[in-house]
Amino acid sequence: MRHIPLAIPNVGQPEARNLQACIDENFVSSVGRFVTELEDGCAELSGCASGVATGAGTQALHMALRAMDVGSGDLVICPDFTFIASAASIRHAGALPWLFDINADDWTIDPDQIERALSEETVLKDGSCVHKSTGARVAAIMPVYTLGTPANMLAIKEIAERWNLRVVADAAAAIGVTLNNEPIGSWADLTCFSFNGNKTITCGGGGMIVGNDVDLLQRARHLTTTARSTPNYDHDEIGYNYRMTNLEAAVGCAQLNRLPEFLDIKRRIRSYYKSELSHISSISMFPEPVNRTSTCWFSGFVFDSPKTDVNAFCHALKEDGIEARPFWKPVHFQKPYQDCPVEPTPISDRLWSRIVTLPCSTSISDEDLDYVAKAVKKQLRGLGA
Ligand SMILES: *Cc1c(COP(=O)(O)O)cnc(C)c1O
Repeated sequence: MRHIPLAIPNVGQPEARNLQACIDENFVSSVGRFVTELEDGCAELSGCASGVATGAGTQALHMALRAMDVGSGDLVICPDFTFIASAASIRHAGALPWLFDINADDWTIDPDQIERALSEETVLKDGSCVHKSTGARVAAIMPVYTLGTPANMLAIKEIAERWNLRVVADAAAAIGVTLNNEPIGSWADLTCFSFNGNKTITCGGGGMIVGNDVDLLQRARHLTTTARSTPNYDHDEIGYNYRMTNLEAAVGCAQLNRLPEFLDIKRRIRSYYKSELSHISSISMFPEPVNRTSTCWFSGFVFDSPKTDVNAFCHALKEDGIEARPFWKPVHFQKPYQDCPVEPTPISDRLWSRIVTLPCSTSISDEDLDYVAKAVKKQLRGLGA
């Protein structure tokens, strides 16, 4: 029977050649030319001075926060509608996420709500933004580039400057996109990517921090490499072993070369589904805000009615050999995050349970895409659409 997975890696000869080179050269661990090449390549693509590779995207976010001295007792503004790793990285750093709603038209954090909440609930004291009711310092904003689309960074950057906040962008699946025709790296103090298996490009697993503040990046690098201060096993703080291996970077370098091809395919998948499904009255396609390019990390649609059972719908597609899935469940529903301050989240509350993601691997054939579109239309007709 046919099986069309949701999003699988696309690796082949270029990755194999680089892996063979690691073995031939006997550089398989956390030092090697591919690590440096991947750091430089990601930095350049993002319009940044340099990059620091990590073992995962979650580690990149954690180290970016720690490099900025975000820690115990701090609050970090982040969207309620995100993958759990954004919130987890804030907790790993010792801080607490302060959860905000998203915009309906781009699914990224709502700057107007941030502005309102900061005006009403915080004061600037000695250059620090202090949350009045808890006394906690508000240290940073972590916008998330949902589906590989940048947040409204013009507004966020301005807010961050006014309240003296750092900005760490969770750009996990957004490598290679632009905002107002500029590469994304300059919009945040530090920008983090993930190279997990289902992301736009993969290393198997891995992450990257890019930015223009070389001191911050140097500090992040120091923390990821056990915080060793001399060759003689002196360590000046509690560090981490969060380095990417040369084997992972070897795969990543080959993938980075193929990024333009992958982005092209991801965008064609998005527009194919749009051309096939957007006329159906009971659903809406994923948002495509202007002035921002997107990796189109996932493609799919949203049911207009909150009464539709997305799980049942996906299960029905599974019978046809198609892997379709719901998307993120907001952070404020998650048991370990019940103590986080949260602003009203009407948009994320109304949105999350209506989303369906459809197969969008870059290796998908035209025939399979057509098969998925037809099966989706058949199921929607069954629901009376
Ligand atoms: C994948 C992802 C992460 C975490 O990356 P890992 O490499 O899996 O640790 C963080 N944030 C978002 C939005 C993601 O999609």
